[in-house]
Amino acid sequence: MIKNISVIGTGYLGATHAACMAELGFDVVGVDVDPEKIERLSRGELPFHEPGLPELIRRHVDSGRLRFTTDLDAVGSWADIHFIAVGTPQQSGGTGADMTFVDTAAAGLARAITKDALIVGKSTVPVGTARRLRDLVAEESREGVRVALAWNPEFLREGFAVQDTLRPDRLVVGTDSPEDEATLREVYADALSRETPWVATDFETAELVKVAANAFLATKISFINAFSEVTETVGGDIRTLADAIGHDARIGRKFLNAGVGFGGGCLPKDIRALQTRVSELGLDHTMNFLNEMDQINLRRRDRVVTLAEQILGDLSGRRIAVLGVSFKPLSDDVRDSPGLDVANRLFNSGAEVFVHDPEGNANAAKRFPRLGYVDSLSEAAQDADLVVLTTEWDEFKALTPADLDGVVAAKNFLDARHVLDAAQWEGAGWTFAQLGRHFPQ
Ligand code: NAD
Repeated sequence: MIKNISVIGTGYLGATHAACMAELGFDVVGVDVDPEKIERLSRGELPFHEPGLPELIRRHVDSGRLRFTTDLDAVGSWADIHFIAVGTPQQSGGTGADMTFVDTAAAGLARAITKDALIVGKSTVPVGTARRLRDLVAEESREGVRVALAWNPEFLREGFAVQDTLRPDRLVVGTDSPEDEATLREVYADALSRETPWVATDFETAELVKVAANAFLATKISFINAFSEVTETVGGDIRTLADAIGHDARIGRKFLNAGVGFGGGCLPKDIRALQTRVSELGLDHTMNFLNEMDQINLRRRDRVVTLAEQILGDLSGRRIAVLGVSFKPLSDDVRDSPGLDVANRLFNSGAEVFVHDPEGNANAAKRFPRLGYVDSLSEAAQDADLVVLTTEWDEFKALTPADLDGVVAAKNFLDARHVLDAAQWEGAGWTFAQLGRHFPQ
């Protein structure tokens, strides 16, 4: 019977997974190489923003069912299952995935494990990784100890991480033995009792399901944004277009929101890593379309800066409010954030930039300390020559012209998420630009 679980890497994925495993009744130890993170988690404190997760962590730290350590050896003799949830960032100076953290974690675990155990990879990895790690683990593990390997990719969304982990849309497990699949069925018995689709497959399929899902989502976003480029030129209403094609059940409306595009710690690096991996496999052109999706996505950021220049002329010395630097609402994650990138580019063009994000300011300030960070929307907009909405937080979506009356220096608004009502703002005398909408030169 499975009782003890370790989770290696306690970032967005690992901390969530560890807390949810404790919620399901397992004894859990989270392991990370970052002592500060471990110290905070051990006190029941979450080092990042994720709705519902702090309560879960506190509850299970208090009950003693969830603990944290930097000592990998300690879990080697204790856990029945070890989940790997370390990062796989884009290589510096390259487009492939940096596998250093996964490889180090897998090899370290193999050496630390002193009783039969299953290592389960959850990180997003290039196809071929699980098979390679299975051999690596076999080589590194102690004699007489069976250390098996499985891959169980994670599909959680930041902002909904707890719900996605406890009530997933599907579970995908890649194994090379029925015994390991049975072990994972035991871990996920709760979800299985609710008839969660269970996809049991080989290593390669499991790895590819994850990157295929991300590639598809990125493609949907860039698809509608490519049409934005057309409606910006000829006129037409991108939101109506998205609604109309979204009514077709084969297409669906989700992920067809025109705007400044995708970012974060997953989609951008995952589509680049997929393309790189497929090229390594000799399939040079197979995933070329993903490069195009990436370019469409990045062009949206250029478009925001061009529109700002169209509205204000030279940006030098102009005061601009940027609303939203987390890559999406309900998150404080600023990795590859479109809003933060745009804010930084506006700054580089000479503007004085004041940023407000309900959760992302602190992380953004670590990346780009030169920008001004303020605690409220009205402080950001104070005396602004232009207000730019870059992340669709509810409080920004609820903005009306009256909220900014007497606050801004000039009535100029750029809705880079296409979430506000243009007629309302123009009716109140604002110059109102929106991605996906024609803006006269
Ligand atoms: P993260 O950077 O927030 O966390 C990674 C953690 O791993 C860090 O705390 C780091 O200190 C730790 N770490 C690195 N090397 C280690 C080692 N050898 N031993 C122990 N800990 C180590 O990253 P994340 O967002 O949680 O992503 C982790 C993986 O999950 C990535 O492959 C990502 O693509 C995938 N993923 C992330 C999400 C998401 O929404 N964040 C969703 C699905 C999949």
